[in-house]
Amino acid sequence: MSAQKTIHVGGEWRAAASGAVREIIDPADADVFAVVAEGGAEDTDAAVAAARSAFDTGKWPRTPTPERAALLRRVAGLLERDRERIGALESRDAGKTLEEGRVDVDCVRDAFLYFADLVMNESGGRVVDAGSDDIHSVVVHEPVGVCALITPWNYPLLQASWKIAPALAAGNTFVIKPSELTPLTTVALIDLLTEAGLPPGVANIVTGAGDPVGARLAEHPDVDLVSFTGGLVSGTKVMRAAADTVKKVALELGGKNPNVVFADACSTDEGFDTAVDQALNAAFIHSGQVCSAGSRLIVEEPLRERFVAELARRAGKIRIGRGSDEGVECGPLVSRQQLARTEEFVETALKEGAVLRAGGERPDGPGYFYRPTVLDQCHRGMRVVREEVFGPVLTVETFRTEDEAIALANDTEYGLAGAVWTADPGRARRVAGRMRHGTVWINDFHPYLPQAEWGGFGKSGIGRELGPAGLAEYRETKHIYQNLAPRPVRWFAG
Ligand code: NAD
Repeated sequence: MSAQKTIHVGGEWRAAASGAVREIIDPADADVFAVVAEGGAEDTDAAVAAARSAFDTGKWPRTPTPERAALLRRVAGLLERDRERIGALESRDAGKTLEEGRVDVDCVRDAFLYFADLVMNESGGRVVDAGSDDIHSVVVHEPVGVCALITPWNYPLLQASWKIAPALAAGNTFVIKPSELTPLTTVALIDLLTEAGLPPGVANIVTGAGDPVGARLAEHPDVDLVSFTGGLVSGTKVMRAAADTVKKVALELGGKNPNVVFADACSTDEGFDTAVDQALNAAFIHSGQVCSAGSRLIVEEPLRERFVAELARRAGKIRIGRGSDEGVECGPLVSRQQLARTEEFVETALKEGAVLRAGGERPDGPGYFYRPTVLDQCHRGMRVVREEVFGPVLTVETFRTEDEAIALANDTEYGLAGAVWTADPGRARRVAGRMRHGTVWINDFHPYLPQAEWGGFGKSGIGRELGPAGLAEYRETKHIYQNLAPRPVRWFAG
């Protein structure tokens, strides 16, 4: 594949029909480090046509489950083989540390293995008792068809794998549109799918902008399902664009995720250290560019000063820099726009009365870096508390009662994830039970399991990824009713 042939249609790599290209920027120094094809509506239509033909007349949807599962396992093996190469590419493209890039590849591998196992362990159709020996009735699940997969820049390959692995496991064909900022590892994955033996036309990719490529996919009459991960603004556009053709829509959107800390979790030195350490991790891993980032610390009032002081001290010591440099713990923000957005959020918060305890500035030098920032004395009236920053900014709110803690945790239009820290098991279950979020951690933050569904309440989205529901998204349900002894009905007398 030459540098600019990053559009894959019907098994062939090609440049954009228009000849347009896009420069890919290394966020650690703002230099161009790759050039990709800038696809348009014409490329998108060609990719959809290839996926449509591979679904309607190709063999993949009718390939036996063990063969499909075996292919997914081969992809997992290839990811293991190429872990260093792809991990390093992800690190550079998305501004992660090298270790984060490697871990991402491991998680991508695990997604392929999980969905391979899941389809192999299914029992097939569900026989329904129709109340007669003459009727054989069964409910089966079939691939939904051509899937449009639209992904964001923060976990480019991981988010792609949560869509591609179940889509393929279920027997679909797809067109993926990675983020225009970070397309490189998704392009690399398409090569691995081909190497693993996926037939031409099943996996197609169009690199390019949200509009026109993503917008065209969402409205396209030959697309049966659109699965989108990204921000609320683009997500609502996708949903509107998909409405005219009544295609299935799955949305994984943003979050404004609470991390609720009760004082009893910190009654020992070890408990205090753990809760502070995890609050740091919750907010600042990948410079806060995580949909489930614990960006709202909600701490019990008597603990606040001690907790925030230690958090701010440690936030100030986080080593930021190029992800491949030795000892770096946090990379840059992904783009100039994301940096400007973060700066603006902090400036506004300070004007609104927030108290700066750490960070609040960018370091000298090139690249889109911003220091991990802790804003104390925050409240619901502030924009930074309500809206997703998607940068290294942690706000602090306080509570005095359990009810107040729950009310604050749920006081968001989103509902992706949240955590509660407490030493009281009864309280842990009560609070977790009342939190309106798709994932609730008790005394932890951030882990997910491929076997457990991921997704959000409220404006965090529609549908679920991972787990059995993450496979069900990519299927249609069909009832087959067979009459073994057909007779006239005689409803009409004549
Ligand atoms: P974004 O919405 O800007 O872009 C996401 C994707 O949508 C990109 O590929 C983009 O090109 C495309 N797009 C943009 N406009 C479009 C349109 N009109 N039609 C179709 N596609 C369009 O999001 P982003 O900035 O890349 O990613 C950050 C967002 O993603 C955050 O809000 C984050 O919370 C969210 N996210 C959510 C999850 C989750 O699991 N819920 C995971 C990762 C990221």
